[in-house]
Amino acid sequence: MKKTEKVVQMYDKYIMETYTRVPLCLEKAKGARVWDIDGKEYLDFFPGWAVSGIGHCHPRVVKAISEQAKKLLHVSNNYYSRLQADLAEAIIKNSFKGKVFFSNSGAEANEAAVKVARKYGHDKGRYEIITMTKSFHGRTLAMITATGQDKVKKGFEPLPEGFKHVPFNDIGAVESAITDKTIGIMLEPIQCEGGINIASREYMQGLRKICDEKDMVLILDEVQTGMGRSGKMFAYQNYDIEPDVMTLAKSLGGGLPIGACAARGKFADVLTPGTHASTFGGSPIVSAAALAVFDAIKKEKLLQNTRKMGAYLKDELEGLKAKHAFVKEIRAVALVIGVELSIKGEDIYKECLKAGLLINCTQGNILRIMPPLTVTKRQIDEASSILDRVFSKFD
Ligand SMILES: *Cc1c(COP(=O)(O)O)cnc(C)c1O
Repeated sequence: MKKTEKVVQMYDKYIMETYTRVPLCLEKAKGARVWDIDGKEYLDFFPGWAVSGIGHCHPRVVKAISEQAKKLLHVSNNYYSRLQADLAEAIIKNSFKGKVFFSNSGAEANEAAVKVARKYGHDKGRYEIITMTKSFHGRTLAMITATGQDKVKKGFEPLPEGFKHVPFNDIGAVESAITDKTIGIMLEPIQCEGGINIASREYMQGLRKICDEKDMVLILDEVQTGMGRSGKMFAYQNYDIEPDVMTLAKSLGGGLPIGACAARGKFADVLTPGTHASTFGGSPIVSAAALAVFDAIKKEKLLQNTRKMGAYLKDELEGLKAKHAFVKEIRAVALVIGVELSIKGEDIYKECLKAGLLINCTQGNILRIMPPLTVTKRQIDEASSILDRVFSKFD
């Protein structure tokens, strides 16, 4: 802990305290394993808040970045870059017919999505966007407004206008919130920060129908669920619908910062020169990394592995639920997994950390478990035996 303590002290002095941190300072990582600067090894079942979706330092990503770094890191977006074109093509070929705007983060991808909707509705005087309670869309001013959780907004008022929240998975609530000013609906197909709340099939199809009938924009925030984690490349593909706009970030860049906003059909040409921009968006180096992620998912058959390992991990967790009374419910879509507890999750997650397993706790009592898509049966066995031992301390 010696080296870690020193870094913690430096943070106290020099870094703004915007996070509740745990004293863990990582130095290197590979796949589902990470090591701290004092040499301790951990199994990482929440790699980088889902950023390292295909595992830490995936060899294809590392190779792509290393090679690209010697050629070209950045070009301004008033020139062309082959890699940005290739990446946009990869996103579109894996989703729907449309076009992509690149940013550097999830919040910015969502800002672009909202700007598409606002611009589309502008001449008709429609600007309101309906979002869901317990949602999470990022930390810019517009996105804390879009986010359906009061704790992110407090102290930052006045907030931008034009967002309305309704309960998740409640189609009637959406219908009654629509006015002649409403232009869109924005939601996560699976609310992750909100506690792994999974949209039902009827709900998603109902939202699609409403948007078609009322000429509204259906925006899906796939920042956390995108790139294979739900067993499909994008979570909406589990519902037999297409969104009008989809946003990506987190695992898209294999560890590098990138965001993307993809818009379908007529929404693809709403933003025109001068209406939106991002200096760093889609630079050659991050595009090369993201292309390597697509490559890995395809060539290593990671969607199949995600579905298979997701089912296996869910079974293991159901086994733990049968043994430990405080485990209330397991909610899972492939490797998007929440374990709802009837007790506080914080102490459990801290005990897991001590025992060498990294997971997350959200909403106070929901353990969030999202191993990399490359996870193996043995790693799941190891994690589940750690969880069993830790859970036993709380029975
Ligand atoms: C993390 C997250 C965001 C925000 O992404 P940043 O890159 O932190 O701006 C937005 N939406 C969802 C669903 C997320 O999980």
